[in-house]
Amino acid sequence: MRTFDYLRAENVTSAIAEAAKPETRYLAGGTTLVDLMKLNVERPEHLVDITRLPGLDTIEVSTDVIRIGALAKMSKVAADTDIIGAAPVLSESLWRAASAQLRNMASIGGNLMQRTRCIYFRDPGAYSNCNKRNPGSGCAALEGVNRNHAVLGTSDACIAIYPGDFAVSLVAFDATVLISGSIERRVPIDEFYLLPGQTPNLEHQLAPGEMIVGIEIPHVAALKRSHYLKVRDRASYEFAAASAAVGIEFEADGRTVRDVRIAVGGVATKPWRLRAVEDALKGKSIDEAMLRTAAAAAVDGAKSSGHNAFKIELTPKVVARALMTVGDIA
Ligand code: SF4
Repeated sequence: MRTFDYLRAENVTSAIAEAAKPETRYLAGGTTLVDLMKLNVERPEHLVDITRLPGLDTIEVSTDVIRIGALAKMSKVAADTDIIGAAPVLSESLWRAASAQLRNMASIGGNLMQRTRCIYFRDPGAYSNCNKRNPGSGCAALEGVNRNHAVLGTSDACIAIYPGDFAVSLVAFDATVLISGSIERRVPIDEFYLLPGQTPNLEHQLAPGEMIVGIEIPHVAALKRSHYLKVRDRASYEFAAASAAVGIEFEADGRTVRDVRIAVGGVATKPWRLRAVEDALKGKSIDEAMLRTAAAAAVDGAKSSGHNAFKIELTPKVVARALMTVGDIA
């Protein structure tokens, strides 16, 4: 049995000071960390309980920005009537994640920090060859069962997907991650997550001694007409085979695209913004045919590893369907 220290932090300053120690993890909802500790994937020596830090569970919706505290529960944000009215995609991406029990426990900050569901990563007893867990050891998924693995953003060192839903919405709408540490930092969420390259063990920009304290989403018009479509093997408590977070703002004619936001999940090593598809739609009057044509670019550069080839066919369909929903095209 492995032992670890446990400390309940009273404020952000003390939590950050404790977290600067090597082999320390924050404990919030615990819905990822405790799992991974039981699986012997995470082996922290110190746990800093941040569940009772004051002032980090707020939700604010103003005309300029939406701010969500890092300790707000997923279920609370998903059910917030201001969020539902102003930004349906944020609520929908939370409702479609995990299970009711997990959403009641899991925090927004912890949700951003969830780790991949790669079966080889999560089974160190059976598979030593995982570059993410054990740098330089190889990748069992490349020649293994890789149906649930990524087709975008991969490298020859790792093809694990980023598994979350909420961050896909945040990437589509240019959210900023608010970080406290020795300095306060604001990191665009598209830069917060790292591509695997040759260092898949490095997944994000958060450094030891730093803490996510919140997120900000610019309150743009396209949020109002937004949607999260998640396609999966069963209707609940399942990760995405492919998902799309989309939003559209039309010109006064109600058909010409003034602004459009698109990101996909379940198919890439990080939440994946589709700027080329967005650019193909801006200024155009949309119909089903042109949406399907534009959505084909969703998988530009995609690479199959074998079992996951179906995602290359599926992803443009998910993107087109999500856009048709927000565009009121049957
Ligand atoms: Fe490890 Fe990544 Fe390979 Fe999975 S895909 S076994 S996480 S290196």
